Amino acid sequence: MKNLLKDNKVLVEKFRSIRTPFYYYDTELLDKTLQAIKNETDKHQGYHMHYAVKACTTPKVLSHITKAGFGADCVSGGEIQACLDAGFPASEIVFAGVGKSDWEIELGLKAGIQYFNVESIPELEIINEIAGSMQKVANVSFRINPNVGADTHANITTGLAENKFGIAMEDMEKVISLANDMKNIEFVGLHFHIGSQILEMDNFVALSNRINELQDRLERNGFQTVKNINVGGGLGVDYANPDENPIPDFKAYFDTYAKHLKLRPGQQLHFELGRAVVAQCGSLITKCLYVKQATAKKFVIVDAGMTDLIRPALYDAYHKIDNLTSNAQEDVYDVVGPICESSDVFAKDYSINATKRGDLLALRSAGAYGEIMASQYNCRSLPKGYTAEDII
Ligand SMILES: *Cc1c(COP(=O)(O)O)cnc(C)c1O
Repeated sequence: MKNLLKDNKVLVEKFRSIRTPFYYYDTELLDKTLQAIKNETDKHQGYHMHYAVKACTTPKVLSHITKAGFGADCVSGGEIQACLDAGFPASEIVFAGVGKSDWEIELGLKAGIQYFNVESIPELEIINEIAGSMQKVANVSFRINPNVGADTHANITTGLAENKFGIAMEDMEKVISLANDMKNIEFVGLHFHIGSQILEMDNFVALSNRINELQDRLERNGFQTVKNINVGGGLGVDYANPDENPIPDFKAYFDTYAKHLKLRPGQQLHFELGRAVVAQCGSLITKCLYVKQATAKKFVIVDAGMTDLIRPALYDAYHKIDNLTSNAQEDVYDVVGPICESSDVFAKDYSINATKRGDLLALRSAGAYGEIMASQYNCRSLPKGYTAEDII
């Protein structure tokens, strides 16, 4: 199996002259991934992708995504601004989040975003009020909590009744009636998002069934057919095998919705994939500082830490690690960072090519929720993000 990073000798040689740690984004793989998504969405009438910007906001990455014709799903005013700066048309931006500040609502209205995904009645009232004061009409979708679980880590399920997100399914008639009576609100859609790193299509079938039930019920109760259904994101990637499966199974994902979700004539179906778009194209490149033989274990101490990639510490996440500059026989190590926290561990009892000081290591599949979650804890500088265009 070809290693997409390690076998690119020219690239690895270039890496040697860049200060570590840093993120590297393979924009050729990103473009292929975007094309694979388009090939599938083009097969179905009314399907449209809004990339979930929170996964990665590196400007070059955003610029490839907007050039591919995708919209953007934002969860903060800062993300809206980053998307506008990267060239996304405001009319292609949607805005979700349980706690939108007034200035963020104003920014969205001023820019003229496509719609707000509203998560509560108090939020709806404030958007109506702010839109009124700006003499504008806000397009709103309601984020609905479908009470559908996802077979994923407890910290990344979002669609259960116990989660803070969305409005209960039972309350929809009341909320839609409220919106219909508001002067500065235009009700345009229903929004859902059940979690992240979902690989079992059954979860998306369950979501489709809930949406079908809700649409049937709303129609029976005399409500208008909504313009857009938005099913959020959540499709997972193969963290264990980034070289075998660099591009997620988008066909299975979109075909699941095509088969199970009953769209009404003229209705648009919006998707908000984040991880599946960018995870596999990104790697965190780090240097081995020391190999330390402790009583019971051998440690590879690298110059990247949980401040650069927090997923292992936060979610117990697995990232494949390659030693890019050694082909020596494999040895077993704990790969750890320099941060003063015991959870600053990338992998335990991990087999990689025998490693020495100065070797370059790659933490693979780090394009999503990697660089953007970096912090400056321990007064560290934020990692930079480079693409092939920057380096070669
Ligand atoms: C995070 C998020 C997404 C993207 O999730 P992925 O698992 O990265 O695809 C989509 N929609 C909303 C509302 C989100 O909060």
